[in-house]
Amino acid sequence: NLQSTTTLHNGVEMPWFGLGVFKVKEGTEVVNSVKAAIEAGYKSIDTAAIYGNEEGVGKAIAESNVPREELFITTKVWNSAQGYDTTLAAFEESMKKLGLEYLDLYLIHWPVPQQNKYKETWKALEKLYKDGRVRAIGVSNFKEHHLKDLLDNCEVKPMVNQVEYHPRLTQTGIHKLCKQNGIQLEAWSPLMQGGLFEEPTLKEIAQKYGKSIAQVILRWDLQTEVVTIPKSITPHRIQENADIFDFELSADDMEKISSLNQNQRVGSDPDEMN
Ligand code: NAD
Repeated sequence: NLQSTTTLHNGVEMPWFGLGVFKVKEGTEVVNSVKAAIEAGYKSIDTAAIYGNEEGVGKAIAESNVPREELFITTKVWNSAQGYDTTLAAFEESMKKLGLEYLDLYLIHWPVPQQNKYKETWKALEKLYKDGRVRAIGVSNFKEHHLKDLLDNCEVKPMVNQVEYHPRLTQTGIHKLCKQNGIQLEAWSPLMQGGLFEEPTLKEIAQKYGKSIAQVILRWDLQTEVVTIPKSITPHRIQENADIFDFELSADDMEKISSLNQNQRVGSDPDEMN
């Protein structure tokens, strides 16, 4: 169910399912989306400093009837704030906007290899973790070579790597490396930002289970052991996306979905992002 969690390598329980709020407008739009999600039983919310909506996320949390400890809140340090002191300052700014006393998960948003600062940035995350400001720390958009480099140069291993992941981009290499190191993979743009709703194989599978294509894809995430955070601002879709705990895709259908892979991105290649 919506409460089900994966145990991160430090013992922290992270929900398998949550709401993403990329491109959701600060103010009423984000407040209403997060409230609709919490009312529908969502426990996990994924934002980022660069999304510009941390205040609204915080407001929705404060106004909800669910105790803070039952929620799992993620935010991310933006590229321009990478570096040790700048990351510590960016964290405080995010926390002020969110109005939270502690965070559940803090991520390095992109490796930005051209800046060559992610190892320094990681030291700041380790400090925040050791100081008890954040329950878990991780990375986002780390490809295998970025992750290997970090693993060779860290004290605390990342608990999560959040990457673009959907049936057109199944990320087998990074998924395997994460598994070997006890790092939980998390999917961003799990619905490929809407780009898969006409796909014939998915249509056929959705019909067979009496589910929507969105539900089939999100169920596939869970069965591949990947945390998923679909975005929607529409209450009935927010509910629909969470209704994925009452069916199971067969091994055959899982394979059919995975074989839609074309290593196709909708977002930037992390080596080229700066
Ligand atoms: P997504 O794949 O979740 O797709 C969202 C879009 O799909 C919505 O705009 C909506 O139009 C449509 N949609 C959602 N549910 C639907 C349904 N049931 N039926 C029909 N259409 C539906 O896209 P996303 O927002 O890019 O990704 C999800 C989250 O991942 C983001 O909100 C953000 O939190 C995170 N993210 C992280 C990064 C990163 O660099 N770490 C990058 C992009 C996104």
